[in-house]
Amino acid sequence: MAGIYVHIPFCKSKCRYCDFTSFPDKIGFAESYMTCVYREMKMRGAELKDKKFDTLYIGGGTPSVIDESYIAMLIAAAKKYFVLSADAEITIEMNPGTVSRKKIETYLKNGVNRFSVGLQTAIDSQLEDLGRYHTLNQFVTCAGMLRGENFNVDVMIGLKGQTLDDISKTIDVASSFGASHISMYALTPEDGTPIYSDYLNGELPDGDEVAEMYSFGVKKLKELGFERYEVSNFAKSGRQSRHNLNYWRRGEYIGIGVSASSFINGVRFTNTFNLDEYFKCILTNRFPVIDSAEIDLQGAKEETIMLSLRTCEGLDIDKFNGQFNADFLSDYSAPLKKNESFLEIISGRLRVKDEYLFVQNTIICDFFS
Ligand code: SF4
Repeated sequence: MAGIYVHIPFCKSKCRYCDFTSFPDKIGFAESYMTCVYREMKMRGAELKDKKFDTLYIGGGTPSVIDESYIAMLIAAAKKYFVLSADAEITIEMNPGTVSRKKIETYLKNGVNRFSVGLQTAIDSQLEDLGRYHTLNQFVTCAGMLRGENFNVDVMIGLKGQTLDDISKTIDVASSFGASHISMYALTPEDGTPIYSDYLNGELPDGDEVAEMYSFGVKKLKELGFERYEVSNFAKSGRQSRHNLNYWRRGEYIGIGVSASSFINGVRFTNTFNLDEYFKCILTNRFPVIDSAEIDLQGAKEETIMLSLRTCEGLDIDKFNGQFNADFLSDYSAPLKKNESFLEIISGRLRVKDEYLFVQNTIICDFFS
């Protein structure tokens, strides 16, 4: 299985915590950009004829900010230039402040079968503080239009002034409007973003408080029937994101658009983050790749451990041994011993115990050489 990711780098405005490649002031370039995206898809499709793709993820940025006709053409291009399975999962990210019934109808008509809506918090003052371009009411309207559809809602914890009640309300709102999937992420105050000064000023919850929020959220989501399958991802039965599962299972994917990354034939590569450079490359029939690295055997092992221990399914030990001609329990006896109280092996799979999944990063580090 393999996935296609397409990056749409436009937004209405820049959120205060945003570290993604998004250009709120360049939305006028949408038409030129999408023309280049279709062209890059054609170029990539020609060299990946032997690969079958099972998912298409349209992310950003805010894909719902551009005219819906561009999305329709993007999906048509994916079907034309790639071998995309008939039952492919096709996801689009949406900001509740940029949707309309017409857009959603167009997405559905063209094959979108999964939506991902950025709510973050149901508290308007917190949305404002984050610089989000929408209100709770706009989310409610958007979710109403998605009733009966398969959709994810993004929820953020670790916000300034956020209480457990606020998290409870946010999850309740997402669930009651029919979300089939919830991604619950901790805010990461990246250096260089406006919110970083809040962090430096000690205005954000500390690590222990965020851990408490996370545990609270996990419990709440479980009560509402959302099963955790990855540290930040929770789904109703059968509604896990196939696209993201492919990342965590170290499957292949091709990234299209500015800043998109790829993993194909054992090589990881990333497109330029610069919009002008992207245009120049595509218009001269060159791939806009700025960084590329072949993953060696050791790297492949470490990636497999790192990615699988993020998930609740964990690491399949026999599969690992077969794939790498290894003896996992012996080769990694030291980190296994050191972390034995945090780990468990069930039916041949090594996994981080439920109560420690939130801090899996520190455990995983011990497996790296
Ligand atoms: S909507 Fe997403 S990509 Fe756009 S500015 Fe906000 S966080 Fe960044």
